[in-house]
Amino acid sequence: MNKNHHDTNGLSRRDFIKVSATGATALALTGMGALNATAAESTPQLPRRRYGRTGLQISALVGASDWNPEVIPLAVKAGVNYWHKAQKWTAETMPDAIKSQPRESYYLEVVVDRVGGDNKRGHIDEEQHYQFVKQAVAKSDVGYYDVFKFHFGYHSIEEAKTNLGVINAFERLKKEGLVKHLCISQHHYKDINGDMAFDIVAYLMDHSPFEAAQFFHTYGDEKQIADVIALAKQKDFGTIAMKTMRGLGRAGADDKFQALLAEPRYKGSTPGTAMVKWIMSNPNLTAAVIATKNFDQLQENLAAAHAATLSMNDRHSLDLLAAFNKGQTCLLCSACVTRCPEEIAIADILRYERYALDYHELSRARAEYKTLTKNGTACIACGDCMPACKEDINIIAKLKQVHNLLG
Ligand code: SF4
Ligand code: SF4
Repeated sequence: MNKNHHDTNGLSRRDFIKVSATGATALALTGMGALNATAAESTPQLPRRRYGRTGLQISALVGASDWNPEVIPLAVKAGVNYWHKAQKWTAETMPDAIKSQPRESYYLEVVVDRVGGDNKRGHIDEEQHYQFVKQAVAKSDVGYYDVFKFHFGYHSIEEAKTNLGVINAFERLKKEGLVKHLCISQHHYKDINGDMAFDIVAYLMDHSPFEAAQFFHTYGDEKQIADVIALAKQKDFGTIAMKTMRGLGRAGADDKFQALLAEPRYKGSTPGTAMVKWIMSNPNLTAAVIATKNFDQLQENLAAAHAATLSMNDRHSLDLLAAFNKGQTCLLCSACVTRCPEEIAIADILRYERYALDYHELSRARAEYKTLTKNGTACIACGDCMPACKEDINIIAKLKQVHNLLG
């Protein structure tokens, strides 16, 4: 193990400046002043948790290859040791901060998609998944990926039972030493007559070689999700939460919301840090993926992940965010989708809206929206979906708004 990787309880100012040749740029870009630089000095190491049956001890906040490269050196210093979608890095683009560490001290995940279409229309193809990972290993020069992840997951329990293409591809690659562990990121597929993510994940825990799963999870979710996470913990099955920051991007840009947040009852808390603490306070959950745009955000998330305990003001902030989201931000629960006679992928459309409004990734959102077989214009305004939405979203109006934004 690399000494720096494990014996540093915080970033010294010297380390902070040294983290990359662009450290100074990061400061300038994010507007960090002496105050935040001082905060960097005291950044503690992120807690690590066992990623279920993989046995890997991963950081409670995991990193992603699409993070701003400026923040990666600090993330590594703070103990982020698991990198999501690592196949996007080639030997040339993989950050030095990661590849300069001993290979066994960090974990890289390769994400495998269906082929011949998107996550709904595409299919599982053992040979193509196998070749994809083999080529990714060669291009990245990483030797192996720690985790092979089936992206978007199975459409149904039936498919998981009968289609062994993903598992076979994994087993072949594992035999060749190119991958080590098998995980899944599971979406809901009720809209195409499939199953809900938590039902598929619960099945996989008992009936397959999968060792861990990633799925949507945020404050305000139905208890069902917390129950599946608790069951996973019991069965030593790893769990990573994704799409955790419900509507935070649009709340951040809303003056009225910001004015409310200045009230004394929210003092010392922000909805973002409160959300990180809320996620971390669940001992059954292994980790979370949190979109990180800049240095300040990373710094705040790291501090919150370490603090973990939710204060009363944190609870107030989360409730304020939930109230702000009510009627406008989709929680991606998919409760509405089976009600639609037109089989519109409502939750997918509203996920793309989140890319645009919360992550500020308009082109990505538009590109995804373009791939839909049926977009918001297919809505016949029957209203059948609306009683299912506990967030009280006016889905008819919302689909029109999203089409205007992304269509
Ligand atoms: S209102 Fe539109 S989206 Fe809702 S069920 Fe009817 S057609 Fe589907
Ligand atoms: S619109 Fe409402 S019911 Fe449909 S996925 Fe979003 S939150 Fe769930």
